[in-house]
Amino acid sequence: MATTTTADHLNPNPEISLSGNFTSPLKLTAGLDRFPSIGPRRLARLERRGIRSVLDLLYTFPYRYEDRRVRITIAGLTEGTEQGFLAEVRRIRKKVVPRLKAPIIEAEVFDHTGSIPVVWFGQEYLLKHLSEGTQAFFFGKVEYSSYARSLVLRSPMTEVIDPEEGFRKSYHVGRIVPVYRENEGVSSSVFRRLAGDVLRSLWGESFDPLPPAVRRDAGVMDWFPAIVEMHFPKDTDRPMEEFLAPDYPPRSRIIFEEFFLLESLMMMRKKSVLVSGRSWTISEKGESPLETFESGLPFPLTGAQKRACNEILHDLFSSHPMNRFLLGDVGSGKTLVAAFAILLALREGRQAAFLAPTEILAQQHARTLTRVLEMTGDKRFEPVLLAQSVRGPERRALLSGLATGEHALVVGTHALLEEGVPFHSLGMIVIDEQHKFGVAQRRALSTKGVNPDILVMTATPIPRSLALSYYGDLELSVLDELPPGRQTITTRVVKNAGEDFWRSRIDPVLEKGEQVFVVLPLIEESEAVEAKNASDTYAFLSTLFPGHRVGLVTGRMEGEEKEAVMEAFRRRELSVLVATTVIEVGVDIPNATVMVVENAERFGLAQLHQLRGRIGRGSLPGTFYLVPGPAISPEGRMRLEVLESFADGFRVAEEDLRMRGPGEFLGVKQSGLPMFCVADLVRDVETLVRAREAAARSLGDSPQHPEDVWNLSCLEQFIRLRYSEVDNWLSIR
Ligand code: ADP
Ligand code: MG
Repeated sequence: MATTTTADHLNPNPEISLSGNFTSPLKLTAGLDRFPSIGPRRLARLERRGIRSVLDLLYTFPYRYEDRRVRITIAGLTEGTEQGFLAEVRRIRKKVVPRLKAPIIEAEVFDHTGSIPVVWFGQEYLLKHLSEGTQAFFFGKVEYSSYARSLVLRSPMTEVIDPEEGFRKSYHVGRIVPVYRENEGVSSSVFRRLAGDVLRSLWGESFDPLPPAVRRDAGVMDWFPAIVEMHFPKDTDRPMEEFLAPDYPPRSRIIFEEFFLLESLMMMRKKSVLVSGRSWTISEKGESPLETFESGLPFPLTGAQKRACNEILHDLFSSHPMNRFLLGDVGSGKTLVAAFAILLALREGRQAAFLAPTEILAQQHARTLTRVLEMTGDKRFEPVLLAQSVRGPERRALLSGLATGEHALVVGTHALLEEGVPFHSLGMIVIDEQHKFGVAQRRALSTKGVNPDILVMTATPIPRSLALSYYGDLELSVLDELPPGRQTITTRVVKNAGEDFWRSRIDPVLEKGEQVFVVLPLIEESEAVEAKNASDTYAFLSTLFPGHRVGLVTGRMEGEEKEAVMEAFRRRELSVLVATTVIEVGVDIPNATVMVVENAERFGLAQLHQLRGRIGRGSLPGTFYLVPGPAISPEGRMRLEVLESFADGFRVAEEDLRMRGPGEFLGVKQSGLPMFCVADLVRDVETLVRAREAAARSLGDSPQHPEDVWNLSCLEQFIRLRYSEVDNWLSIR
């Protein structure tokens, strides 16, 4: 495929070529009111679509294209398809039909091969516009009219052709034309005209946000020809759909560009972390810290855990703070890796903070850390727990212990982020389920130390493409291996979960002495939501299984009450636990082998995958039953089937991303993520990886090309122009 193309088919002045001098991107910030077709009303409407500048407009691409080239003569017209042809108007008249509100305009048009009747409904202005003898282009559908007993062209779009100029000046006909989304009262043809005018006004500029070397290496088109041809494709024999394909050269250029801009920004951020120095280092003691750590554990680390620990070790030996993202499926053993990082900091006399989104999780982490540090630490490191429930004198003592450094390790919830929580020498921060915290919150914690090391984790697997893009300023460690001995879990979407299901599927499990979770979306009956609730299901199952004890736990219960029920289940005093999603995290019950989720369509895929991770944790295989409500949509059912097909959380996440798009997937609203206009994080992952490498090469320590350095400020300026919200993009510092 050609890598450079000219776009002379729109060129207003053939003497000006596309190569010339570098122009600053400032010209692209110009407003749109200087174009003749844009008055104050249209200006306001465009603004409501978020289109203010020339640049905004250029990046509002058509969603399809229409072939309005003259391909045919009247004799060759066929029924049923949209076709365009040139003709002269022979007769035109208004006909008033009594039962119709508007008059009908009838005309006959001809070319050297024949003639055809044309009708419009309303549109009286055509009488003047298309007077006899006018040459015009007609584009529309030809249909057979039984009334006229002949082919008729109905309500075609028309454009009068200037006999001197021909099609040169027309944006709407005689070429492949773009079709734009119409909203806020801006029609596609208004948009088309504006796009054409804007492109012509920029003719001769050779601005390009991508450094020349990057363009050359990537083999992508130059900026202006690509933008022109995204709006007005050149005359080719491709089917129109091909202009929408990611390998259409202008489009692949823009896709690459979008990724390159994002990755460049991430590289710039990364660099700003690289320039800050560490506040502590690991003293060489002659032993390998990882081997010492592992020898204290009752089991060997998985290969993936070892790799992640070594990556962390490498970070801590380097001269700048760690910024690392630990990705791993449920049960892949992230906590242990975090414990290793924490232990290293503690042993050097630094403080460590472990942030978790809920108190239950914080408690669980505190328990785990106590155990692991006991086994692997050379002295006692007792974690303290800081949550909203810690108040009064206890809280005051805890805070002063943190301020003096007496408490070396704290595990906590949002309570950790408050201003009145000072540290003595905070050197290591671990954030679990990092997406539950906003940018400001993460920053609030990191500023409590001097350039602390940061390890963020997520219990929800994130597809690699997202990790590379939105968390591109972080180093990535992936735990893609589960500890040995994990049981297989079978997932089934149940068609009908009537009494029969419970008797034939669940009763035998209970008879074997195994335990069952039943998860519901609601606590109690709700008028607003048509879904099953925990209270009714609890009552139903208690009656159905009189020989087994059924328990109920919901988010509305007090902490102690909740804990008592959980404890009873843990001790096997209860056989069935009916619950809301409070059990999503922090529950580890090896004898629980089955989980039934009612109204499963009301849960997110990631959440369901999390829930699934609660069973099969002991020596017995498990079954995960998904019961959809009666009103489930076909898409909803497909989503559930993803879980049937894939056990691997990363695959589930990828499918989830593909179905919902990155915005929904990550919850854009809260994180203020940039959205791509043509790039697709699922489809274009390979391009993303190439763009990331290109950005790393281009912005690396020793740029290979002098012109890259020169273009850097232009690049940064352009990123800010394209994405005004860039400062809100995810970052952990
Ligand atoms: P997650 O990644 O979901 O946070 P955890 O850290 O909670 O996973 O680990 C899940 C379980 O696996 C814990 O009970 C933990 O003790 C155990 N575990 C972690 N690493 C290993 C290992 N290498 N071998 C055996 N069990 C392990
Ligand atoms: Mg975990």
